[in-house]
Amino acid sequence: MRYYSTRNNSDPVTFAAAALTGLAPDGGLYIPEEIPRYRDSVRKNLGAMDFLEIAFETILPYVKDEIPPQVLEDLVTGAFPFGCPLVPFGFNGKPADSVTSGNRASGRSFPLVLELFHGPTAAFKDFGARFMARCFSWLRRGESRPLCILVATSGDTGGAVADGFFGVEGIDVTVLYPKGRVSELQEKQIAGLGDNISALAVEGSFDDCQRLVKSAFADKELKESRSLSSANSINISRLIPQALYYAAAAGRAGAGKTDPGLGATPWRSGGRNGGNVVPGLPLTMTVPSGNFGNLTAGLYAMAMGAPIAGFIAATNINKTVPDYLESGEYKTRPSRATISNAMDVGAPSNFERMAAHWSYTEMKKTIRGFSVTDDETRTTIGDVFNNCGYYLDPHGAVGWTAADKATAAGILTGTTVVLATAHPAKFSETVEPITGPVPVPESIQKAMARTAWAKTIPAELSALKEFLLHD
Ligand SMILES: *Cc1c(COP(=O)(O)O)cnc(C)c1O
Repeated sequence: MRYYSTRNNSDPVTFAAAALTGLAPDGGLYIPEEIPRYRDSVRKNLGAMDFLEIAFETILPYVKDEIPPQVLEDLVTGAFPFGCPLVPFGFNGKPADSVTSGNRASGRSFPLVLELFHGPTAAFKDFGARFMARCFSWLRRGESRPLCILVATSGDTGGAVADGFFGVEGIDVTVLYPKGRVSELQEKQIAGLGDNISALAVEGSFDDCQRLVKSAFADKELKESRSLSSANSINISRLIPQALYYAAAAGRAGAGKTDPGLGATPWRSGGRNGGNVVPGLPLTMTVPSGNFGNLTAGLYAMAMGAPIAGFIAATNINKTVPDYLESGEYKTRPSRATISNAMDVGAPSNFERMAAHWSYTEMKKTIRGFSVTDDETRTTIGDVFNNCGYYLDPHGAVGWTAADKATAAGILTGTTVVLATAHPAKFSETVEPITGPVPVPESIQKAMARTAWAKTIPAELSALKEFLLHD
């Protein structure tokens, strides 16, 4: 499989080059020359296959020129020791008419929640980051100089990347974050690991951190003495593995089953109701979206042949893509702050990838966009908790609300899956005033028990260089 830049289809590169460089030299994003199809035997059997088998079958065609099958097996086994339960929406014996995106009387099925937060940093970015890390390590085997990855973070991405690369051979990671501007949990996820992960608390803003990273990449002395790389969210090796949970969930739901993979138990007990899933009905995936990497991965899964009928692009008030789907005009704008802050994006980086693969007409056939306000998000968190005893995080709640809106607009038939992208305990400051205390999962308890060790530096390149060259 060859990879092209979204801005130039004449200079193909290998998967290794696309993954290790991240961004194409012309500033475009790498895309595969074609989206492969699942073999028929796989496509028909997704509902019965093990989660790791689906991971293997999903990723292999993209990487097979450079990663042998037995190596890929090891990579996915190491990357995904956790699953993604597909939770039939439970009622705990209560009618859920006021909150569901369907109801019994109309014969519609109820939504399912695909819990993507069972990884070590309790958000879906673990899937991409953990695979990318193992991939980098394999692709660079035999290199004597360690790869030095620089990441600037406003909070969340840094934790997933740090955790993904933690203990991975041949790679050192330095995470830069704005001192005093990340939550205690985020700081511990970034700066509590040690070993090959270093943390720099920068006296400045996130923009300062990003500027430092950019100038480090442009610095001659650093380039000569270190192999530098970034691991940002547009990396193709982070995107591809995200297709696997769409295929797993679609297979399970299509077969009328729930709970894909690895015996991962739903984090919430009780209220389970397998009756939500009606086998054979069209399946719509509702994706809380910011940079649209997650939704793009879903489109890949569908194009590969996973039984998905369509998508709902759920955004907060940063609704560049829903507006585009409505009007056909793509207009980026400055982002506005919301309670679903991992989706505060006004110029979604992966849109360029979507547009390189699919025309406006094609996108419009497959995706419907809905934007959700903070008030609506809070109302949904409260309604779902009061009626069903289930805790949604603000991002998942944006998805739930969008599915509700799609139902009200009469465009949802069949089964709806809402992707829960983060554990509610990660956003307890928003969720708890509405629901009361949120149970804290083991992954977050473990992170909170760590001690953060960060070096504070001024927002100056000389300080970053001093650290990278001499510490
Ligand atoms: C990153 C993130 C999103 C947005 O995902 P994109 O791939 O950028 O669209 C949604 N929810 C959570 C919790 C996230 O961390």
